[in-house]
Amino acid sequence: MKNGTTEAKLMVPMAVIVIVAVMALVGSLWVWAEQADNLARTREESLVRKGLDQIAADQSMLMTPITIWDQATIATAVKYDPKWVRGNIGDYFQKYLKFESNVLLDADGKVRFAYHDGQEVSPSLFTATLAQTQSVTRDLRNRYASDMAAGRGYSADSNHAGKVIAADGRLYITGASLLLPDAAGSPLLKHPPFVVVGMHEIKAPELAALSDRYMVSRISLLPRGKTPPSGNASVAFTDANGVVLAQLSWQPETPGKTLFLRTIGPVLMISLGLGLVALVLLHTSQKTAQSLSASEAKAKHMALHDALTGLPNRTLFADRLSQACERMKRQGGQVAVMCIGLDRFKDVNDTLGHLAGDELIRHNAAKINGVIRACDTLARLSGDEFVIIQTDSDGHSAATLAKRLLETLTGTVTLESGQVFSSCSIGVTLLIDGEIEPAEALRQADLALYRAKDAGRGQYAFFEVEMDATIKLRKTLETGLREAIHIEALDVVYQPQVDHFGKIVGVEALCRWTHPSRGPVSPGYFIPLAEECGLMNDLGAFVLRRAMQDSHRWPGLKVAVNVSATQMRHPDFVRSLGEMLAETRTQASQIEIEITEGVLLADDHASQLVPRDLRHMGFSIALDDFGTGYSSLGYLSRYPVDKIKIDRSFVSNLGNDPEAEAVIRAIVKLSKALNLNIIAEGVETRAQKNLLRQAGCQIIQGFLYSRPVPVSDIDAFMRDGGGKIVLSEEPEALRQAG
Ligand code: C2E
Ligand code: MG
Ligand code: MG
Repeated sequence: MKNGTTEAKLMVPMAVIVIVAVMALVGSLWVWAEQADNLARTREESLVRKGLDQIAADQSMLMTPITIWDQATIATAVKYDPKWVRGNIGDYFQKYLKFESNVLLDADGKVRFAYHDGQEVSPSLFTATLAQTQSVTRDLRNRYASDMAAGRGYSADSNHAGKVIAADGRLYITGASLLLPDAAGSPLLKHPPFVVVGMHEIKAPELAALSDRYMVSRISLLPRGKTPPSGNASVAFTDANGVVLAQLSWQPETPGKTLFLRTIGPVLMISLGLGLVALVLLHTSQKTAQSLSASEAKAKHMALHDALTGLPNRTLFADRLSQACERMKRQGGQVAVMCIGLDRFKDVNDTLGHLAGDELIRHNAAKINGVIRACDTLARLSGDEFVIIQTDSDGHSAATLAKRLLETLTGTVTLESGQVFSSCSIGVTLLIDGEIEPAEALRQADLALYRAKDAGRGQYAFFEVEMDATIKLRKTLETGLREAIHIEALDVVYQPQVDHFGKIVGVEALCRWTHPSRGPVSPGYFIPLAEECGLMNDLGAFVLRRAMQDSHRWPGLKVAVNVSATQMRHPDFVRSLGEMLAETRTQASQIEIEITEGVLLADDHASQLVPRDLRHMGFSIALDDFGTGYSSLGYLSRYPVDKIKIDRSFVSNLGNDPEAEAVIRAIVKLSKALNLNIIAEGVETRAQKNLLRQAGCQIIQGFLYSRPVPVSDIDAFMRDGGGKIVLSEEPEALRQAG
């Protein structure tokens, strides 16, 4: 992340440097291009001006065959001959030299002949043009005069001159030439010579020819007063005072900009683009590399950590344990491996949902982390099982840590969906050499955990070699029970409840399970086992359904079914009971639900409401094992209970312990006051039966009358004797030998 930010910080200046460098290069190349264009324009302007001057010079030279001729002097300076002048100056110049206008001036500068386009015209037409050629004719005369004065005679080369002039917004090629005799020493020279000025207006065709000749773009003559567009090449023609009289203008070649725009520019732009693309690619590839390494790190982390808690998982645990064992081999010492299992975690999942379960796991993970040292490892192996590797340990410090953990993890936890009571059990194995495999260490700690749970939960146990067999058996039974529930290989037996006439008034449904190879297993073992491994709801539902189905054949006989706290707390319990009633077409009034005091007194929503709901549905409720739990008789009036079942422990003490009798009398009295039915269970002897009857308890359940019997027996009772059990005279005789 930090790397990413540094690179992002570098990226911006790098991009700015690239852009600024390219802009500077573009700027200087542009200046260079402009200079090149200025040069090119100046060159074109001078080319055009010189070209025009050259045309004028050439044109003036073409005048000389006519102007240097004795006859020309004779017909002008000696004796002016209008006819000759008209033919040889006016017409000839127009026809052969393309001077459509020409003017003849005498030695005094007076216009003697003015001609335009085949006509003699008024000299005033040429006032403006002659004003511009005046300097030319004056120069010619001055040069002639000085040559003559110097006795050099005249030169044919210096008797004529050409000039491009402007007048009235028009442009003319003009040529001027003195009219002189053929020979330099001619006597005719004594006559001051006339001068002829020929003019040809420059129009579009001439400008086009000029453009073609000098390979410039189309030259145009600007209207008077108009300035050429900026960037255009121009040639201005001014008067003696520098006032612009006419101006030619054209678009010059721009070799610099053209070169720039056609070649350098695109190359630069492409380079800039490529530079930026390269930067972006660099940036992207860095990003990709970063995100790749981030996802690689994430994948690595995920491979070694548990997603819910972020704790090391089984793989990392094994690795850490191997390292700890390696260290132990080198440096000695001991390592403790501690399995922590949350007690009745499945209940939380079942009753409050998986989110609450997850929350509880995270809560406990944080708590454990707060207890262990930084050098210890905490890993999560499965659902509710954590494991700790405590290095530099010994029996004492492992036990201390286990106690601390029990204290820390026991108590009420407030989850988003409500409060739960959470506790844990801990199994510890102490490794004294580094030779053990991680899997074996874990197995040992796991066995110890089973032992701790078996011994009533909320405690810790150290692994001992003898545990192996017990735990293996437990695991075998767990697998067997799961299978038995799945294939409905369980059975339900019924124990009669008898009134003082010996008539069966009810039966209690009791679950039986026979393991295929190990034989019958006591409910005292497999019911807690089912609770422990999350099978209780399925087992309970099986018994309830079976009891309802059987009760169908026994009208008027109450069938009591034991329902555990786990079942009661299951959110679907009430609904599923309703469905079962409908499915088996059973009246709820025929079923009695036996719950224990613990269920009634638990401080949770379900325990408070479910018994009421059940009674509303028509079930009756009996309080099983009464007297063994909280035994606060006072609470009975507040709870929806129909019957109290005096626990066997009181009954068995009858006759031996006077207090037992007193307690029973008190319970019976209270029940009567509260209008509750009363039954005693575990009645084995006539003496117990008689004492109970004296105390006021009429309904009795126990081996004295009958052991729990198969369903067929109850069927037979109901059919034959109308459900009456007659006791034999032998005091301890048991009619049924279960
Ligand atoms: P419980 O509900 O108190 O059931 C009475 C237990 O006392 C039964 O033991 C019964 O066989 C035994 N018993 C009855 N009369 C006598 C007697 O005169 N002398 C002696 N010594 N014992 C007598 P069982 O069938 O072994 O069941 C033990 C416990 O397992 C039950 O105690 C009940 O808590 C639980 N259990 C059995 N079946 C189910 C079941 O389907 N669901 C649930 N939730 N619990 C069950
Ligand atoms: Mg019972
Ligand atoms: Mg009982």
